[in-house]
Amino acid sequence: MRILIANDDGYLAPGIAALVRACEGLGHIDVYAPEQNASGTSNALTLTRPLSIFQARVEGMEGRDVRFNVVNGTPSDCVHVALTGVLGHKPDLVLSGINNGANMGDDTLYSGTVAAAMEGYLFGVPAIAFSQADKGWGELEAAAAAARAIVDEVLASGAVQRGPFLLNVNLPNRADVVSRPRLVTRLGRRHASEPVIRQTNPRGDPIYWIGPAGDAREAGEGTDFHAVAQGHVSITPLQVDLTDHAARSDWAARLARA
Ligand code: MN
Repeated sequence: MRILIANDDGYLAPGIAALVRACEGLGHIDVYAPEQNASGTSNALTLTRPLSIFQARVEGMEGRDVRFNVVNGTPSDCVHVALTGVLGHKPDLVLSGINNGANMGDDTLYSGTVAAAMEGYLFGVPAIAFSQADKGWGELEAAAAAARAIVDEVLASGAVQRGPFLLNVNLPNRADVVSRPRLVTRLGRRHASEPVIRQTNPRGDPIYWIGPAGDAREAGEGTDFHAVAQGHVSITPLQVDLTDHAARSDWAARLARA
């Protein structure tokens, strides 16, 4: 069993060390993680400069035989370079996270955590993204244990043998998260983000901060938001095809021409 682990919070984030430690004993683990926090970078690839990789010692990994490979790029870069030549083999599983904060609903489009897993999926490797619902790393070890339990059950289910899949897991920050109910959910929706925040830099020029994400808008039963609000673990199977299949015939009637 060979597992590739990445994240978007950067190689120094506690979440990835916790995930690596939790996955010990499953097989060989390779870590490729961004040098900087790259949250919100979605599926971006770095195309305008080369990438470098260095090996780092990471706190919390003392005495463990896992090398942290640090890439000065995006989460997708990390998985991309690993899978397309640096790793030298195709892993059996790509794991991403554990992220500092939820990736639910529309977040999944912006998330580097989901993107790192998606990069594996795009290369035909089963992949799981893990996020803690609340920021701040509260109950991180419990979240890591819950992630491991999910990986164990995924492996035992034979899903990996049936072909690639992409799962998005959100874990409530609870000490008892391992034993909380798990729901297989669909993505909810958020309200639009808060407005951009305008400030002035020391040279008098206007600068802008992207505002925080909006609150949940579609958070009814069956959604990831609803599950996590109940203190449950949310597992959403994702697909990559963005085609609006239901709208195709409508648009064909308006616009198609033989
Ligand atoms: Mn992040």
